[in-house]
Amino acid sequence: MLPGPDQVITCPHCGFLAKQRTLISGNTIGAILWSDGKLEAPMLPEFPAVVRCRGCKRFYWVDEARVKGEIEPFGYQSQHLELQRAEYTQHLTIDEYIEALDTGVGSDMQKERYLRVHFWWAVNDLVRGNANAQIPVRYIQKLRENLAKLSVLLDENDPNERIMKAEIARETGDFTRAIQLLEDVPAEFKWVADSLMELSKKKNSLVTQLRPD
Ligand SMILES: [Zn+2]
Repeated sequence: MLPGPDQVITCPHCGFLAKQRTLISGNTIGAILWSDGKLEAPMLPEFPAVVRCRGCKRFYWVDEARVKGEIEPFGYQSQHLELQRAEYTQHLTIDEYIEALDTGVGSDMQKERYLRVHFWWAVNDLVRGNANAQIPVRYIQKLRENLAKLSVLLDENDPNERIMKAEIARETGDFTRAIQLLEDVPAEFKWVADSLMELSKKKNSLVTQLRPD
């Protein structure tokens, strides 16, 4: 993994500074692929696309923020203190994803999709890899609504999105629909489809690690 320079970005609402990490190259060594599509890759970290400003507390999209400066990995000595002191951006919390969706931060389909997928993943993070853990009751209804809306945004004709739709059906207990969606996918997606199919037939709705073998 080769880190790129830190980008110092400014909040479009108030100008408060934040630092976004960047990557020049990464790889999937040691990566874990989960059934909800989340890839946990230590050598290919995902940096947040949407953040909450620590100054004004409003949300903004990182790619819409102005870049005020860059700090090379070994360039901290020579940089202005104001840039150095900016804190790193962070992924939103579950409650922040809900708030962002409720306040219209997902203003186009791509943004809405990002928020809905990441909200889903953040809730699943609470139970990921722990069969005894349960999704907190206060999130269940919001998660269901979120998945129903996300499913509408996904295109059955795209194999990746079709699989994600199937996974939403499986995790919400609609195993018949999941199986139907998984029956017809191109060869390179077959191992994923087969794994999800097996779980669906067992009426298993838990988020699960996928292993290609
Ligand atoms: Zn701000």
